[in-house]
Amino acid sequence: MNPRFKALELIQTRPLTEPLDAVRSKEIFASNVFTLKVMKNYLSKEVYQQLKDCVDHGASVNRTIAGQVAGAMKAWAIEKGATHFTHWFQPLTGLTAEKHDAFFELHDGEPIEKFSENELVQQEPDASSFPSGGLRNTFEARGYTAWDSSSPAFIFESRYGKTLCIPSVFVSYTGEALDHKAPLLKSIATLEKAAVEVCQLFDKNVKKVIATLGPEQEYFLIDRALFDLRPDLLLTGRTLFGAAPARGQQLEDHYFGSIPERVMGFMVELEREAHKLGIPLKTRHNEVAPAQFECAPIFEEMNVAIDHAQILMDLIDRVARKHSFHALLHEKPYAHINGSGKHNNWSMATDTGKNLLSPGKNPQENLMFLAFFSTVIKAVFENADLLRASIATAGNDYRLGANEAPPAIISVFVGSQLSRILDEVVNPPRTRNKAESDPYMRLGIVKIPELQRDTTDRNRTSPFAFTGNKFEFRAVGSSANSSNAMLVLNMIVANQLTEFKKAVLRKTQRGRKKEAAILDVIKDYIDSSKVIRFEGNGYSDEWVEEAAKRGLSNIKQTPLALAAYVSEKTEALFTNHRIFTRAELHARYEIMLESYFKKVAIESKVMEELAMNHIIPSSIKYQKELLETIEAMADVDMPEESYAAQKELVIQIGSHLKGVLEGVKKMTKNRDAADSHEEAQAKAVAYAETVQPCFEEIRTHADSLELIVSDEYWSLPKYREMLFKR
Ligand code: ADP
Ligand code: MG
Repeated sequence: MNPRFKALELIQTRPLTEPLDAVRSKEIFASNVFTLKVMKNYLSKEVYQQLKDCVDHGASVNRTIAGQVAGAMKAWAIEKGATHFTHWFQPLTGLTAEKHDAFFELHDGEPIEKFSENELVQQEPDASSFPSGGLRNTFEARGYTAWDSSSPAFIFESRYGKTLCIPSVFVSYTGEALDHKAPLLKSIATLEKAAVEVCQLFDKNVKKVIATLGPEQEYFLIDRALFDLRPDLLLTGRTLFGAAPARGQQLEDHYFGSIPERVMGFMVELEREAHKLGIPLKTRHNEVAPAQFECAPIFEEMNVAIDHAQILMDLIDRVARKHSFHALLHEKPYAHINGSGKHNNWSMATDTGKNLLSPGKNPQENLMFLAFFSTVIKAVFENADLLRASIATAGNDYRLGANEAPPAIISVFVGSQLSRILDEVVNPPRTRNKAESDPYMRLGIVKIPELQRDTTDRNRTSPFAFTGNKFEFRAVGSSANSSNAMLVLNMIVANQLTEFKKAVLRKTQRGRKKEAAILDVIKDYIDSSKVIRFEGNGYSDEWVEEAAKRGLSNIKQTPLALAAYVSEKTEALFTNHRIFTRAELHARYEIMLESYFKKVAIESKVMEELAMNHIIPSSIKYQKELLETIEAMADVDMPEESYAAQKELVIQIGSHLKGVLEGVKKMTKNRDAADSHEEAQAKAVAYAETVQPCFEEIRTHADSLELIVSDEYWSLPKYREMLFKR
């Protein structure tokens, strides 16, 4: 029997999983996290206070405190049933890494449970198999992980055991960052410093600013049995073949529709597991495409939010398996159907309790809001290419800039109300009778009414949208570690805030009053970054044309987009603020290029295999059946026209088979040529320009065959089955 039919039968009879016992989230929330509150019970008052100060001020923890914390952590973890511990870190592969060590140790031949301050503070995984972009030769493979005391340790439960995970950075012995977290932490500190300085122009009480992040996660679910029959999903995370289903998302009936029972079972368990780990998941719903879903946590301090987002991806994967699903986190698992993003809701909050992107209630606060708001827009305008680079991956290329919307153009949406306000700040309307008594008008700014969080004023097509009190960077890919994008955003905004402050100071030194000087700079920023603002439909062809006229970039493929990482401007930005050395920046660039061409190479090989071993043989089987029919009909002297249809199909199949085969030959030839390049940059470009375009050619013929060949012979699960069967 065709394995596809067997799988479909299996799905039909799959029982739902048993419901979980009802538990209130508040009872289990963070039960597997070594929170400050837990620590209080395990540490002396003094040590606790010292540790808390370190966490609050981002200072490093001294050895004595570390020793106490290690003891406390061990006691807590062992009580909870953990047997092992690991430094949990985020290497540049995009996944997370862990190397487990047991608490178990022998002391004079006697087994004991041990976890020392050294083991808490530092570990030495063999680093040679992680990408370093040539920073670390394999013969001196030493790298070490170091405890990040600003993100709490947690216990990861698997069916077979519990492990204490200690969030860590990963650096080489000479100090170069080999991971996502180390530079992210630096960028957060840089943003904080710059933002505090600008805040102090308005409010001397502000001593601390934190970057906040709420990442929404989109994903697809597919039944495990169908997933297992798609080698492309298994090896590349996306379907390389598949004719468009008769019904896709055109009925627009999935978004916010009722959640299917089986999926609900998965979501409830996902939330349960997330809550135990202190991940504040709050929202769950269907997304636009069939079989696409989304979950979103409540925003948190950025470093913790990113750790949580990484854990969440892992949880989604594991919990899906328990429910006989496979979760697809790829940016574009299906052609013709919406892709998935990780929308990064980003803002900054002060220690005085203010969200810096929330318009205020009085003129002073509004001026402060406008200062930050216009600075972010200016930063995006000045660094649009770098921002584009920060989200560039092979997977995201299929979502951005491919044949289907959205394009790879960075623009900013602010909504009609704020658009008007920004325009009026630059060109104040000429009605100023009661100007003297109105502080807004004395400042020359228009009144900012309290913003309505109006759902109609939303733009789902903008890559970077203001949504009332935060910016939403929507172009980030669903499988991405948000660090790349957030690090760049933090940096460009930090840099622009520094420029902002300098510009204000230059003016006040020349005798301009502070408020007036601030307003001058705001006006200048709004005016000079006008072209990056776009309120219309970002998915339309007109926008692509209009953006080109405005001189905005539209860089469709990753290798070219990544070049912005090594431009002179970027080098200056990152080295001046000491986030990366030049060597680190180039190493990262190299790693990203490598990751790109390796992924395209794998796709190309899987495509070849599927074409040769599935698509061509299935088609020939059907062709053979048609030919046998023709022969049999001719044998009994049927008139020729009675088997003309069969003949026509044989010819059609033949021509598509030729198309597939020619495409595969061309692709393999181009792949060999691409592989002959030594330099990562040249190789990546060759893959992008000569290998990747063959996919579409091969696919067009293969997908046509799927529509002709008898269903019986088609062994690869079809789109309609993968998207609608559950
Ligand atoms: P919507 O964007 O549909 O209005 P929400 O307001 O719930 O939805 O926000 C979506 C995400 O943005 C959530 O993760 C939410 O916690 C987060 N968010 C809200 N305020 C902020 C903020 N000040 N900084 C960062 N993220 C935020
Ligand atoms: Mg969304």
